Amino acid sequence: MYLSAYGGDETLYRLFFITRKQRRRFLGIAALLLFICFCAISGYNLFSNRTVGCHIKDLAEPVVLAEAQPNDITEGMPTEEPPKMAYLTFDDGPSVVTEQILDVLKQQDVPASFFVIAADNNIKYLPTLKRTVAEGHCIALHSCSHAYNKIYRNTDAFWADLAALNTKLKPYVSEPPMVLRFPGGSSNTVSHKYGGSNIMKDLKQQAEAKGYIYVDWNVCARDALGGNPSPDTIARTVIKECKEKTKAVILFHDTARNKNTAAALPAIIQWLKDNDFTFDTVDHLTESF
Ligand SMILES: [Zn+2]
Repeated sequence: MYLSAYGGDETLYRLFFITRKQRRRFLGIAALLLFICFCAISGYNLFSNRTVGCHIKDLAEPVVLAEAQPNDITEGMPTEEPPKMAYLTFDDGPSVVTEQILDVLKQQDVPASFFVIAADNNIKYLPTLKRTVAEGHCIALHSCSHAYNKIYRNTDAFWADLAALNTKLKPYVSEPPMVLRFPGGSSNTVSHKYGGSNIMKDLKQQAEAKGYIYVDWNVCARDALGGNPSPDTIARTVIKECKEKTKAVILFHDTARNKNTAAALPAIIQWLKDNDFTFDTVDHLTESF
């Protein structure tokens, strides 16, 4: 059969592949090299399960928040600066990295908010939520599966998925969290191909009707899946974005790929402290944005 492919010219055949066994080996190695190239380019991790979570390309742009203004100026009186607030938020956990994040937060004595999911990769880390709650951090909702094609198929599918998350969280939280962050953000467009162009508008209205506060971000650490920025790069990105802000809601990620996020936190938190930011959790926010 092989010979017929070369018109029966065995000499030509032998020029490229001395034996059929070698030809098979050559094709096998070529296929493996192609697969490795694909993994390197796409960010797929060969040696671990695919991590579920946000990908930087799917995230909405950071929200632009109105800056707080100084209080009314009374003639002859010094002006009072508005308090500067920082909200450290971590999406897509709990994960193998959560404990490292918690260790830094404990050392630095600051609170943070965790928008959690309960996909297959997260299940074994859910008990970490006990420590998270015990150390004064806020647990908030992100989704159960984080699968865009499932949660954004229609609004009922989204709320069913959120109910599944609440069921998984029940052993770890005293009452169901009422703050949520839509996967991809409240103005994401990745949802449109599954649920149409009005899906986010409908979901936001329904969230408010159900009493939820949904929270986006106005600072993005750019540490989501697909790249592996160094701790220095993450810290620089966040600090640059926090300058000139009086309310910084900072989006980080908490997945197996975010060890550098945990490593970047001490420098970020120190900078925020040095620049007079007070740290708070999203359950103290009073309105969606
Ligand atoms: Zn996410």
